[in-house]
Amino acid sequence: MERFDVAIIGAGAAGMFCAGIVAQQGARTVLIDHAQRIGEKIRISGGGRCNFTNLQGDRLERYASENPRFARTALREYPPSRFIDLVRSHRIGFHEKHKGQLFCDDSSEQIITMLRAETQRGAVQWRTGCAVQEVVLEQRAAGDAGASGHRFMLDTDSGRIAADALVVATGGLSIPKIGASDFGFRLARHFGLKVIEPRPITPTHANPTSNTPMRSRPISRVVISRSTPWRSR
Ligand SMILES: Cc1cc2nc3c(=O)[nH]c(=O)nc-3n(C[C@H](O)[C@H](O)[C@H](O)COP(=O)(O)OP(=O)(O)OC[C@H]3O[C@@H](n4cnc5c(N)ncnc54)[C@H](O)[C@@H]3O)c2cc1C
Repeated sequence: MERFDVAIIGAGAAGMFCAGIVAQQGARTVLIDHAQRIGEKIRISGGGRCNFTNLQGDRLERYASENPRFARTALREYPPSRFIDLVRSHRIGFHEKHKGQLFCDDSSEQIITMLRAETQRGAVQWRTGCAVQEVVLEQRAAGDAGASGHRFMLDTDSGRIAADALVVATGGLSIPKIGASDFGFRLARHFGLKVIEPRPITPTHANPTSNTPMRSRPISRVVISRSTPWRSR
């Protein structure tokens, strides 16, 4: 069995970014994805040039959320200017298009390379092409040192993994062909967490001929808080 401080499931934009940050702070980190090719949504984002942030991205009135405080806290900790600094430090050329939108001059691929490099700086261990079959939150045995009284046990295609913390960054439901799944939603429901029904972030993209809005990009980061095992299907 392998042991880590943090296990992250999903190596998209959120998972890679999170892995880089926590690993560079000293956490022994594993990043797991069932896909072989990672960062596919980043690759197609912004028409292949990734609209990676917005100069007005810290204007809180721009965020639609049932919990407006989330954006405030997150953006205070990490405003767009810090991401821009990161992009500059990797010497990625960019330009402003409309209303503060920032795009790579060349290719989205540069953002994937940057996020990967940040995980490498933190010596993150990667497990790609690796599905998670079971998640259990178990109490630590007496004498088993750790930051809290519990740990997560994951049964994966590459063996059993134990971690003090679990981050689920498996993204939204759009485009299953490139790896999207409902994993985060099923896991959250299994552990009794409230799941807000997905709805379009950009209502203008809804199909005008249908009464049913198109589904797109729900937020699905969850923290697990119960000890019953979760099994894949
Ligand atoms: C066409 C298009 C254009 C876009 N353009 C932009 C843009 O220009 N700017 C912008 O900011 N946003 C854009 N977006 C949105 C942006 O791409 C997403 O919001 C962002 O990529 C989401 O990142 P994520 O890490 O949350 O999820 P994802 O990128 O979806 O990553 C989730 C990861 O989890 C993995 N995964 C899923 N299920 C499992 C499982 N069961 N086990 C293990 N791993 C699993 C997937 O393989 C994937 O690697 C665009 C989206 C699309 C579809």
